[in-house]
Amino acid sequence: MRALRLHRVEAAPSIDSVELPTASDGQVLVRVRAAGICGSDRHIVAGHNPLPEYPRTLGHEVAGDVAAVGAGVASIGVGQRVAVNFLVSCRSCEYCSEGRASLCTNRVGIGVARDGGLAEYVLVPENNAIPIPDNVPYDHAAIATDAFASPLHAIRRSGVRAGDACLVVGAGGLGLSAVQLLVALGAGSVTVVDTEPLALEAALRAGATTATTAEELKARGTRDRLEDRVRHSFDFVGSPETVLLALDATGRGGRVNVVGLSDRTLQLVRGEVLVREEKTIAGSYSFDAAEIREALDLMARGLVQPELVIGGRIDLDQAVDALHPDGRHDRSTGRTVVRLDPAPLEKETVPA
Ligand SMILES: [Zn+2]
Ligand SMILES: [Zn+2]
Repeated sequence: MRALRLHRVEAAPSIDSVELPTASDGQVLVRVRAAGICGSDRHIVAGHNPLPEYPRTLGHEVAGDVAAVGAGVASIGVGQRVAVNFLVSCRSCEYCSEGRASLCTNRVGIGVARDGGLAEYVLVPENNAIPIPDNVPYDHAAIATDAFASPLHAIRRSGVRAGDACLVVGAGGLGLSAVQLLVALGAGSVTVVDTEPLALEAALRAGATTATTAEELKARGTRDRLEDRVRHSFDFVGSPETVLLALDATGRGGRVNVVGLSDRTLQLVRGEVLVREEKTIAGSYSFDAAEIREALDLMARGLVQPELVIGGRIDLDQAVDALHPDGRHDRSTGRTVVRLDPAPLEKETVPA
């Protein structure tokens, strides 16, 4: 089968011909129909998040249909449409026992530490294959698994309530999804900050109350002069500059949720300010299966519009350029989704 493989960092991935995996005990072979390209894939290619080993098939935002199941798989059958939860958790460590799979001490990422879904087929544990509602297409289901589920996790952890003023920093795939989720969940206002005019336009289409640059936000004065006191900020960039911006724009008692991954050191604010204003800074990583199901449900009910997040659709060959370390990827906003239509398995390769 064809797979987009990264052989080393700071080099373009290539399309390789690799052996079709077979579904062993408890595993499900998914025929990939759509896979999103995430900002973290670009970080992996750039060498900011080194992988345990190379080459590796990338792709952690995946949807398709079940082509084969291994022995003992009971909950899911061949032909079923599924989204892939990329986070394989152990289901037995103290965090898994508390229902916090995103913190699993033994977690392994599909498309990170094992082969991912920028390929014709991907092998996933039965529990990581999540059924897709009938009226949600594959490319929407793919971005439900990270672009929507990751901000949903941060929003739930932050405890956003109806009417709360919110700030979103970075209007890429996750940021645009966050705007829609916040609007759908009843946020009072959503201010979006980005550097790119096209991203700001996309944010307004996605439902942002205000879309502005960091410079404009600062020129409007401190947080005290924002129309609403920001209670929850969501930083999808995670750089020292954006975290500081979010911290400054967040009102007293508010919470800054850092979702964007950065390998740079954060230098924040005079400790006294943090204390006197009782602000919280929290990291938020990935999601759990229930949040993917919730994102799919919001899509099925038409409460979020994935089309406003998808900035482009390409095929697997074009994904090589989209992930090129020279940054020669298309400049469209939001999420780029790779669409695939692999030939069905030959009958004889399906286990009896
Ligand atoms: Zn991602
Ligand atoms: Zn665990």
